[in-house]
Amino acid sequence: MSKVTTRARATPDPITAALQELHDSLASDAGGDLATYIPQLARVDPGLFGLALATMHGRVYKAGDADVPFTLQSVSKPFVYALALADLGLEEVLSRVGAEPSGEAFNAISLEPGSGRPSNPMVNAGAILTTSLVRAPDPVARFERIREVLSAFAGRRLELDEAVFASELETGDRNRALAYLMRNAGSLRCGVDEVLDVYFRQCALLATSVDVAVMAATLANGGVNPCTKVTVVSQPIAEHVLAVMASCGMYDAAGEWLLRVGLPAKSGVSGGLVAASPGQFGIGLFSPLLDARGNSVRAVAASRLLAERFQLHLMHHPGRSVPVIARAGSALTLQSGRRRLRTEREVLHAHGDDIDLRSLQGDIEFAAAEVILQSLSTVSPARPGGARWLVLDVQGVSRLHPVAARMLDSAVLELGSRGVVVAVGDPHRRGLLPHAAVELPSPEEALEWCEDALLESHGASLALEQREPWQPGQGGE
Ligand code: GLN
Repeated sequence: MSKVTTRARATPDPITAALQELHDSLASDAGGDLATYIPQLARVDPGLFGLALATMHGRVYKAGDADVPFTLQSVSKPFVYALALADLGLEEVLSRVGAEPSGEAFNAISLEPGSGRPSNPMVNAGAILTTSLVRAPDPVARFERIREVLSAFAGRRLELDEAVFASELETGDRNRALAYLMRNAGSLRCGVDEVLDVYFRQCALLATSVDVAVMAATLANGGVNPCTKVTVVSQPIAEHVLAVMASCGMYDAAGEWLLRVGLPAKSGVSGGLVAASPGQFGIGLFSPLLDARGNSVRAVAASRLLAERFQLHLMHHPGRSVPVIARAGSALTLQSGRRRLRTEREVLHAHGDDIDLRSLQGDIEFAAAEVILQSLSTVSPARPGGARWLVLDVQGVSRLHPVAARMLDSAVLELGSRGVVVAVGDPHRRGLLPHAAVELPSPEEALEWCEDALLESHGASLALEQREPWQPGQGGE
């Protein structure tokens, strides 16, 4: 009898499979050139191609040469910008480095006439100035702080490629010229050699596609590294950095990039590319052959395909998954399960529309809160058939964003001034609406509380002592 043996072939998960497929379809594209103006960069293997994606839960997916280190070069810029923002605050940094896309090459002399302020921190001039802003007593300490923060973004200590550093130190005259121009204009306030030593070192820090994906994921995750859980920068700083990456990260290709790919990104001349999808993931790509604008040919192509396939464009709105108001009604149709006396049932039947109910659900942000506000605007005892009590069932609310919480709470306050008493039902006891009259541990109890208040207002005997505790499935008397 022949024995059929099936060899277990590991099927990759769909994300790894997608990265693998991108790798395989683009690896044969040998278009583009190695950067040669830093001689050491011309020595890398042009066939290298790594792709990695890191999620907000700290999982990493990868394909190709995702563990091969490369020097960060300009991919370092957004992360050093984050550090400068943390040190000085947005206003101070903006007064020294603008945030306008220059639409010019990365090494352009793009300085504001008169002040010498560089147009943005993603082009070399702006990045050199940004490096000078990092707080430290001396250049050695400045580089160590930069290395520490970039390492925290990556979740492991990043090493320096001494050879690439030395190579750029020797040949980086254009950057030297830029720094002298800024120094002459008064925008750069420290020594040229001093700042360039630190800048060239930050560019020569080594990272893999996986590292870079985690760095981007940290920005996408509001500044918290999703793998180490360390808060590297605050959420507003992460947002500001992503904004500048979106508008200026791809130099003279920034506009078309935003149009086609629609993700904050940053490229570097070693062939690295970092991109982030806020709240979703970070991607790190590496392939050293560059197009005429100094962006990696394969990395740009891979980003475009990824963004299309997974609908990642920043301007794409997925729409709400569930309606924000799951249920609306009054105590005429919705009754608490509480046993009631016949007289009470009669009162509730006659005046049930004095109690309104809204069951809210999902993730409530500004737009959803506006829908709720609209729905609540008609609740008023002054209107014929208008309610005097309102049950807000927030059991199904997964998240109430701070702006939505403020909108809803002020609506609750306003309802109170119109004479509507609001009872919140929330098993999670989150205290989402502080101006409500009461918060009870379930929507049923909130409704019951309103029914009791309604009955009391009609003078009906509540006959508390006659009641037994409510049991599911029990009807009234
Ligand atoms: N170190 C490089 C430079 O300053 C970085 C430029 C880049 O990656 N675009 O020229």
